[in-house]
Amino acid sequence: MKKSTVDCYPQGSAEYVVMHARWQASRGRRPSATLSFMRNPRQALAWARRYAYFPDTETGLYLNGQVPEDYKCGECGAHGVKLWRLYQTFLDHQQFTCAECSAKAEDKDISGINADGCMPCELGCGDTDQIGWRVPAIPTEELDTYWGYSSVPQPGCDWWRKLPNTTKKAAVA
Ligand SMILES: [Zn+2]
Repeated sequence: MKKSTVDCYPQGSAEYVVMHARWQASRGRRPSATLSFMRNPRQALAWARRYAYFPDTETGLYLNGQVPEDYKCGECGAHGVKLWRLYQTFLDHQQFTCAECSAKAEDKDISGINADGCMPCELGCGDTDQIGWRVPAIPTEELDTYWGYSSVPQPGCDWWRKLPNTTKKAAVA
């Protein structure tokens, strides 16, 4: 096993701790990765095992790197872009909106949005990926529901961040 496999995962994530432990084991060593809130490597591994999430797809990519067909903005129909959903509403009739339609619905200025879908927080609390009451809409790999805001697995976050914010092409100067 190569160290580069471990480095695919962000340090401090559950996935990193689990992969690091496998890498250590492949070299006959004990787990040594820790978490910011759990400095004991054995405890960190036990915790990480419960929370680590590895996509089980052919390509090893979240959702095989695809965008589900019905992952569309409910307002303008944009497909293949990042979508947001209202916080604490679940499934059924859930309305998904793209960045622009979310901003319109929430009356928010998102001119500071970056490629990761983050923008400076109005309250000065650093960057946020929320638009008003809307949070990133990230489907589970079974496509049966959407992840709760604080429980999205890292590969799901990465999948979402890689989607463009808009389908509109930047004007060529
Ligand atoms: Zn839209």
